[in-house]
Amino acid sequence: MDSRQISLTKICIRCGLEKPRSDFGVAKRMRDGVRQPCRKCEYQGQKRYNASHRGLNTKAKREWKLRGGERPCAPSWKNDTYIRDMYMLAHLVSEFTGEKYTVDHIVPINSKRVCGLHVEHNLQVIRLSENASKKHLHWPDMP
Ligand SMILES: [Zn+2]
Repeated sequence: MDSRQISLTKICIRCGLEKPRSDFGVAKRMRDGVRQPCRKCEYQGQKRYNASHRGLNTKAKREWKLRGGERPCAPSWKNDTYIRDMYMLAHLVSEFTGEKYTVDHIVPINSKRVCGLHVEHNLQVIRLSENASKKHLHWPDMP
């Protein structure tokens, strides 16, 4: 087949039906400029994917993000207002003292050995240098 010649139809690799090129999505990297499965098959594939990932992609994921996103230790009952205030306080203290303050997790949340919670009572405002020297290796009542 002459690759320069673009046929007006294409056979879908999924359903095997010959369909007009307009029934295929655009794919610049493909030699003939269109995708291999037809739009209908792609749509159905997407639908299947969404169905099997339901709860991950939709509501649960949104809620998970609201709870603190990537933080694995942020329970839903944490007090977001209080936590926001802590970060605000750190910012204000930094401005006021000219020294960099940060919000620290008293029990580290990303230590290999413990998993502190991202909740208000595990937070304290400390100097950034203090936090750096802590290096997530120390916490109260450390074994
Ligand atoms: Zn198809």
